[in-house]
Amino acid sequence: MMKKTFKHLKLELIHYKTAKDVVFSFFRDHHPRMIERNLYKLETDFSIRLNGVTYKKATVSQLLKAVRGHGVWGYCEHTKNGKYIHYWSSKQQNRNKILTFLGHELGHAIGYVKENDANKFGAVTAIACYIYDRQFKKHHKIAGTHHLYTCEV
Ligand SMILES: [Zn+2]
Repeated sequence: MMKKTFKHLKLELIHYKTAKDVVFSFFRDHHPRMIERNLYKLETDFSIRLNGVTYKKATVSQLLKAVRGHGVWGYCEHTKNGKYIHYWSSKQQNRNKILTFLGHELGHAIGYVKENDANKFGAVTAIACYIYDRQFKKHHKIAGTHHLYTCEV
């Protein structure tokens, strides 16, 4: 767990051990007493793609499968004391997916509510790190040279 206060953003990251833990945590707030078996069947507002099939209003069970397949997932909780990014990521998760996830949630943390807006933050974060790795980490870049980066956003 990490606690970091930025000038305008009090942010805490809450890491979960399993995908199930973070997904259930997301739905527990609204269904505090629901038994686990019923929570799995609960219909959500998430639209997901599993094995080439799109499920609008996926169940918690379907969402959980998609989260495990993706390898990283979480959500941003807004409280009057600060923002909390709850997350889980698999040990084999790739850096790009994590950065995209973090950028997305940070977009929410600084006040962008819409998923499309948060997605842009995710993409920009991944692109910035990609460029950083290639442009700034190595010290042999020659001043005045130009580098072309092609990124999918
Ligand atoms: Zn989001």
